Amino acid sequence: MTYQVCLLSGDGIGPEITNVVREIIAASGVEIEWIPCSAGLSSFEKHGDPLPQETVDNIRRTKLALKGPLATASGKGFRSVNVALRKELQLYANYRPAKSLQGVPAPFQDVDLVVVRENTEGLYSGLEHTVVPGVVESLRVVTEAGSRRIAQFAFETAQKLGRKKVTCIHKANILKLSDGLFLDTCALVAKDYPDVEFDDCIVDAAAMKMVMNPHQFDVLVMENLFGDILSDLASGLVGGLGVTPSGNLGADAAVFEAVHGTAPDIAGKNLANPTALLLSATMMLRHMGEGEAAQRIETSLFAVLAEGKTLTGDLKGTASTTEFAEAIIGKLDSVA
Ligand code: NAD
Repeated sequence: MTYQVCLLSGDGIGPEITNVVREIIAASGVEIEWIPCSAGLSSFEKHGDPLPQETVDNIRRTKLALKGPLATASGKGFRSVNVALRKELQLYANYRPAKSLQGVPAPFQDVDLVVVRENTEGLYSGLEHTVVPGVVESLRVVTEAGSRRIAQFAFETAQKLGRKKVTCIHKANILKLSDGLFLDTCALVAKDYPDVEFDDCIVDAAAMKMVMNPHQFDVLVMENLFGDILSDLASGLVGGLGVTPSGNLGADAAVFEAVHGTAPDIAGKNLANPTALLLSATMMLRHMGEGEAAQRIETSLFAVLAEGKTLTGDLKGTASTTEFAEAIIGKLDSVA
C-alpha cells in the first residue's frame, strides 16, 4: 500500500531534515507518496501567501501532513501559519511526549510524560481588539465542548498507551469561570475512564513540580497558553526541542511537526539534527497504523544516540545530518 502524505518542507533547515526523514521512512519499507505543499516565508515570497488554500485543501484530502519549521516574518499582516493550520483544520489536540533518551544530555533521566494541549481556544482564539487607544483586550475563550473533546483525547491517549494518570493543569482558583469550566469538564469526563486516575494541579505549582520532580507526572491536559509553555518546559527536561516530537490532531486531519525553529544559523550546512522531526514522523507512522516500522526506526535512532559515535553538533558530535541519517538507516535491518 502507498500512502499519500502532504509534505511542508518548511524554511531554513526544514528541507534538509525533511529530506533525511523521508529517506529513513523509505528505508523502513513504508511507501509514501509525498505531496509537496507550500507554506511559510518561502511560500509568502513566492505566492504572496504563507498558507495557500491549496495547501489546506491537500491536507484535508490526504488527512496527513509532515511539517518542517516555518519562518515567521515579523511585523503585522503575516498570520502565524501554525495557528492558522490548527484553526482551519480544527487540529484541536496538540500531543507532546517528553521522554528521556540515552545519550542525550538532559537535566533528568527516566522522564516519561505527555503534555496534551488544547490547540484552538484559550488566549490563542485570536480575538483581540483595541478598547480605546492604549488599551487592548484579548479574549480567553473556554467552551464546554472544547474542554470535553480535549479531556476525552487525554483519557483515550492514556488508555491507549497504558498510562495510569491524567492531571488537569489549570488556574481555576483565580480564573474561576473559564478554568473552573475546564476543570469541571475534565473531572466529569474522568468518570467515564475509571481505570485511569485523575487529579489536578494549579499551573504555577505544576511548573515548579515539573522542574523539581517530573517523575510524578504521567499525562497532563491543559488549555492552549499553559500548554504552549509547559510543553516546551517538558521538552527542556529531556534535552530540548531538538529531540522532542509533536502531533496536532483533529477529527479530520493530523499534522506532525518538529517544534524547534528554522535554525537560520546552521541552515544549508548539513548540520541540523533531524531527531525531533523523525520522532514526529514515527508518531505519524503509528497514527497510520505502521507501528512496526515506527518501532524499528525508533530502536535504530535510540541505538545511534546511545552509541554516541555519530551525533550532530547540537549533541556535541561532529556528524553531518546525512551521516546521522545513514547511521540510523544502517541499523534498520538488524533491529527487530
Ligand atoms: P530556532 O529553534 O530556529 O533556533 C534556536 C537554536 O537552536 C539555534 O542555535 C539553532 O541552531 C538550534 N537548533 C534548532 N533546531 C535545531 C536542530 N534541529 N538541530 C540543531 N540545532 C538546532 O529558534 P529561533 O532562532 O528563535 O527561530 C528561528 C525562526 O524559526 C524564526 O523565524 C521563528 O519564527 C521560527 N520558528 C518556527 C517554529 C515552527 O515552525 N514550529 C518554531 C519556533 C521558531
